[in-house]
Amino acid sequence: MFANSNILVINCGSSSLKFSLMDAITGETFADGIAERLMTADASIKINITDNHHQLSLNAPFDHKMAIEQLVHALTQANLIKQISAIGHRVVHGGEQYSQPILITDSIKQTITELSKLAPLHNPANLIGIEAAQLTFKQLPQVAIFDTAFHQTMPEKAYMYALPYELYQQHSVRKYGFHGTSHYFVSKQAAKQLNKPIEQCSFISAHLGNGCSVTAIKNGQSVDSSMGFTPLEGVMMGTRSGSIDPGIIFYLVDQLDYSLNEVNQLLNKKSGLLGLSTLSNDCRTLEQAATSANDKKSRLATLALTVFCYQIAKSIASFSASLTNLDGLIFTGGIGENSTFVREQVLTHLSLLNFHIDNSKNKIIRLGGSGNICQTNSRPCLVIPTNEEWVIAEQTYALLQKNIQG
Ligand code: AMP
Repeated sequence: MFANSNILVINCGSSSLKFSLMDAITGETFADGIAERLMTADASIKINITDNHHQLSLNAPFDHKMAIEQLVHALTQANLIKQISAIGHRVVHGGEQYSQPILITDSIKQTITELSKLAPLHNPANLIGIEAAQLTFKQLPQVAIFDTAFHQTMPEKAYMYALPYELYQQHSVRKYGFHGTSHYFVSKQAAKQLNKPIEQCSFISAHLGNGCSVTAIKNGQSVDSSMGFTPLEGVMMGTRSGSIDPGIIFYLVDQLDYSLNEVNQLLNKKSGLLGLSTLSNDCRTLEQAATSANDKKSRLATLALTVFCYQIAKSIASFSASLTNLDGLIFTGGIGENSTFVREQVLTHLSLLNFHIDNSKNKIIRLGGSGNICQTNSRPCLVIPTNEEWVIAEQTYALLQKNIQG
């Protein structure tokens, strides 16, 4: 047995670093927090120590390494530092190379660096977190858990684009799918709620947060997903357009003089709920605006939410082509877990698939709640809070145990 099951989980972005110290077996969290706006004058870090309700909040210019040093300081003072047995890192892109968690070595870091060409915003940031943690926690094993790994079971018919084959063969252009740890976690939880082995369960899961993806899961394995070569494909999101006619890009460049960088910014940062509503990428803000006075603001907020729900429903319905049976639909992510409005609107489009919402059940499930929001004669639709950190902790611990035993 590995010494103990307490794992420090690190999710490092280019300007942020989230962390949780948790028991991989029970999911109990001892400390968590976030450092944001790193490497700017407004950098800040928040650390919560669960047991003594201690909260540290600091505003000072610092980088990822200094954020980890602050974390170490806080964990040392709380007597938690010696209890960490390993570090689990979220890494966004594992390409076709990684379908499982892996112990980080120099050659693994090299491969993650090479995969940066597929995820130029994410993998380099994940590597910064890995290197900062290696400097501070020299003795501890570090494990990479890939966001794309769960989707490596997709069949060829799902991951190939109808582009010249050489682009796949020579340049790795294919669908990868993202949010893998989330879809994996909620499908396992859903199987438990239905009292059925996950290997016999088929679900469609909708992770709806600032990023959104829908995944078809057959016998516990991902068989298709709405995000593609990048997280831009699929349903519209907070600021991402989701799938559009690629012809629009030529029109923007050829007729409206957009540079490629401007197109990139437009599709990733200025579209989706924000672009359509002209108001906000935040679902709560739009729901409020939609019910306020009947002016232009409320009309566009309603339009953005209507298109959003319709696209999600269409994506869910399309994945019925990937499955031979369907045990239920799963909603997760900030919107899926909390927005009674979005859940109701999406399900209204899905009556042909025998989804019939129970409005009173729908209304009571939010703020961490979980359960079926459909009528008894309907196919189940389960709301399940995601917990990607727990998956990372669990898989880190499992890998280390396997290495010791084997
Ligand atoms: P995430 O990226 O998973 O943190 O989700 C962020 C999204 O969840 C934002 O669009 C929030 O507006 C949305 N969200 C969080 N709480 C609620 C709520 N009570 N009602 C509607 N949307 C919510």
